[in-house]
Amino acid sequence: YGAGGGYGEQQGYSEERSSAQRVADHYSARSNQTLEERESSPIIHLKKLNNWIKSVLIQLYARPGHCVLDLACGKGGDLIKWDKAKVGYYVGVDIAEGSIKDCMTRYNGDTDQQRRKKFSFPARLLCTDCYEARLDEYLYEDAPFDICSCQFALHYSWSTEARARQALANVSALLRPGGIFIGTMPDANVIIKRLRESEGLEFGNSVYWISFGEEYAEKKFPASRPFGIKYKFHLEDAVDCPEWVVPFHLFKLLAEEYDLELVLTKNFHEFVHEYLQKPEFTELIRRLGALGDGRQDQSTLSQDEWEVSYLYLAFVLRKRGQPSTQ
Ligand code: SAM
Repeated sequence: YGAGGGYGEQQGYSEERSSAQRVADHYSARSNQTLEERESSPIIHLKKLNNWIKSVLIQLYARPGHCVLDLACGKGGDLIKWDKAKVGYYVGVDIAEGSIKDCMTRYNGDTDQQRRKKFSFPARLLCTDCYEARLDEYLYEDAPFDICSCQFALHYSWSTEARARQALANVSALLRPGGIFIGTMPDANVIIKRLRESEGLEFGNSVYWISFGEEYAEKKFPASRPFGIKYKFHLEDAVDCPEWVVPFHLFKLLAEEYDLELVLTKNFHEFVHEYLQKPEFTELIRRLGALGDGRQDQSTLSQDEWEVSYLYLAFVLRKRGQPSTQ
């Protein structure tokens, strides 16, 4: 692995690059938790709910033998989900070197915690900035991919128009015609609504806070400047770094420029209500223990965790064109 993601060695890098580096440093520094630490996390049920949502997306769209591109794969938390879907090949890319190393350890199954049967698919891991690099230059031998996933990370590309475009250009260049792009990211409509409802420029609850800078004192966001709308996000035991608002209607329009058509978008609350009705997914959430006995409520999820889940949405895009019949 390793495709020159080491910004730290470069002199005079731009503000965007240093922001990307801050995000990378934050995730690199997060160590793997023990099972006990994980279970005592104040957001354990939220983490389980997020895992359930990602599992549902993967089960809905991944097929046996599929070639998977996992952008911003982190520590490989979704490897088991892809294994259950019986995919044929996996490529994970992340900017954080520490996360890629953890992902490799998890794939090789050589820690006590993760000792399990080997994954049934071959994998390749790459450490680079997915929103800066032309990934097709690294992955031309692996492409085309049947499915691309970017979980809880696409918003890091909206710091500039160039990065947002490179993210979509990468997905489009690497997916086959008819290929699927699944993901999860903050729901800008909810974030801006919460900001406008709050008295100041900060809002949150016992497990998270979001803070906008003074430049947004008027709480106005002109459509002519949709990139680089930065806020600070803190989620207990998970995230503490800058993030960028992604106005979803503009994301949809930009994606169309890259031949990626919207199939589905749902705020997490709507997503939970819809897919919990389906028996195959109810059983899964029961096993994960995110919602207690699997009823359609937040029984074991605290109200504050449930509020955090409202800050996110899931999306599915499809690359234009017909899949080849060969
Ligand atoms: N997708 C994983 C998951 O769902 O478990 C990790 C999600 S974590 C919230 C966000 C991830 O995005 C981190 O691993 C971080 O290093 C990665 N990331 C942020 N900016 C990135 C970039 N420019 N290129 C590649 N990865 C990036």
